[in-house]
Amino acid sequence: METMIVDVVTPDGHVYNGDVNMVSARAQSGELGILPRHIPMVAPLSVGSVRLKDGSNVKLVAVSGGFIEVRSDRVTILAEAAEMPSDIDVARARAAKERAERRVAASQEEVDFKRAQLALKRALTRLEVAEGDK
Ligand code: ATP
Repeated sequence: METMIVDVVTPDGHVYNGDVNMVSARAQSGELGILPRHIPMVAPLSVGSVRLKDGSNVKLVAVSGGFIEVRSDRVTILAEAAEMPSDIDVARARAAKERAERRVAASQEEVDFKRAQLALKRALTRLEVAEGDK
């Protein structure tokens, strides 16, 4: 099966580097499924889980926005923050979820509401990715 190199990078360093058969990610324009030999592109990512498929093995990465760049069988995800399941502190994500839910319910201003919604999405993604590893 053909493979491509995937790199997940954040301002804190490398989160993942390896060969995979397929990358699934949520771009702001919709779901992306990237196979080897995909046309070159750059797209902004939404907060969400990225699936890295390697044969029958699927790895999930929690990604908090950023960009995906595809070129010559290399996919680079430049994320504001990204965690593999084993790096996720579940108690912290649960606390962040509860805090964000309270803020979503209480916010009067549109900007506070949007910020709280994004925080909630990050927390839910982390919980989903941590759970998916069990
Ligand atoms: P919190 O309110 O718990 O800080 P957050 O969504 O505001 O959550 P971010 O700003 O997205 O956090 O991330 C800040 C840094 O903390 C990043 O390096 C990110 O990887 C890390 N991080 C955030 N939440 C967790 C978590 N539950 N487990 C492990 N690392 C986390």
